Amino acid sequence: MSASVAIEFKNVSRIFSVKQEDQSGDVKAVENVSLQIRDGEFFSLLGPSGSGKTTSLRMIAGFDRPTSGQILLYGQDVSSLPPYERDVNTVFQDYALFPHMTVGENVAYGLMIKKVSKIECEKRVDDMMDLVQLTGFAGRKPSQLSGGQRQRVALARALINHPKVLLLDEPLGALDLKLRQQMQIELKFIQQRVGITFIFVTHDQEEALTMSDRIAVFNHGRIEQIGTPAEIYEHPITQFVAGFVGVSNLVSGEVAKRITGSDVKFSVRPEKIHLGMLGDKPEADTFIAEGKVRDVIYLGLYTRYLVELDGGGDLVVVEQNLKTTSMDVMQARGQLVRLFWKKEHISYMGD
Ligand code: ATP
Repeated sequence: MSASVAIEFKNVSRIFSVKQEDQSGDVKAVENVSLQIRDGEFFSLLGPSGSGKTTSLRMIAGFDRPTSGQILLYGQDVSSLPPYERDVNTVFQDYALFPHMTVGENVAYGLMIKKVSKIECEKRVDDMMDLVQLTGFAGRKPSQLSGGQRQRVALARALINHPKVLLLDEPLGALDLKLRQQMQIELKFIQQRVGITFIFVTHDQEEALTMSDRIAVFNHGRIEQIGTPAEIYEHPITQFVAGFVGVSNLVSGEVAKRITGSDVKFSVRPEKIHLGMLGDKPEADTFIAEGKVRDVIYLGLYTRYLVELDGGGDLVVVEQNLKTTSMDVMQARGQLVRLFWKKEHISYMGD
């Protein structure tokens, strides 16, 4: 195995036995997952609620163990090691700060346990407070901070011991949208500065696309696809990924055959489709479909058109409002149109 692999899952499964009055049986929280996360990578586990992200993260941290399979941390099998013997740290969604301690004491906590000298401790706390842009806040109590500031304290506390891997379980979940977007950029910036491997759990596809070097898309305890944000978005390999990450048109059967000549199911993103007039000529390597605009939704920055295709099926098309006004776009309703998109912009679906 290459030395640059931080975490490796080898056929990892975690099965919970559930015994309740009304039901009993096995829950396959994680099923036969294999993946490699590289050293220094910002790696996201993305998926809907209950898809196995948190269970995977807990097994890396050591709070839970695989039913079968192995987890390797820098080449060492840690599957049966307790959390404190693993060089990883976790930031939880609820921050889990100590309320009776000051911010500075919270951040210093990991060093105090290791009995680091007071001078060294103060210096490292100052460095961390600078890193998370909380210089001057060390004397406050957590209750005297905003949600975003508490999140930064949790991050500083987790990073102060320079763990090899930082695990983040929906750490921005409690923040409002604007602060969340700001923290996404900051988190990525901090990760690049410290160079530590970040493993980030989220159900928010936009968040994963914004921050990650690579993403693993989870569904029902399995990984559907691993790739860079662009790979996942531009070329989803399953129907689930195409639908979960962004909006996509799925075309199959006879409708697909009329467009591509084959009935293999494919997806195409709405913004890749150009809305043209009936007589417009296609460029090279372009697919064409004709139909009637059934609905128009003006959204300021762009307009969403629903086009009913001749012979069945419909496609969503999104166009930026570069020159058009709301009046112009509304007139498109009922028009016959020709749709064009580059052949390279479709992804054929495995299932
Ligand atoms: P969320 O985004 O809601 O946190 P998740 O993707 O992190 O979801 P997990 O928490 O990993 O999902 O849960 C995966 C599946 O395993 C779910 O069906 C869940 O109910 C089940 N599960 C998790 N922990 C346990 C447990 N201790 N006992 C029984 N079932 C569990």
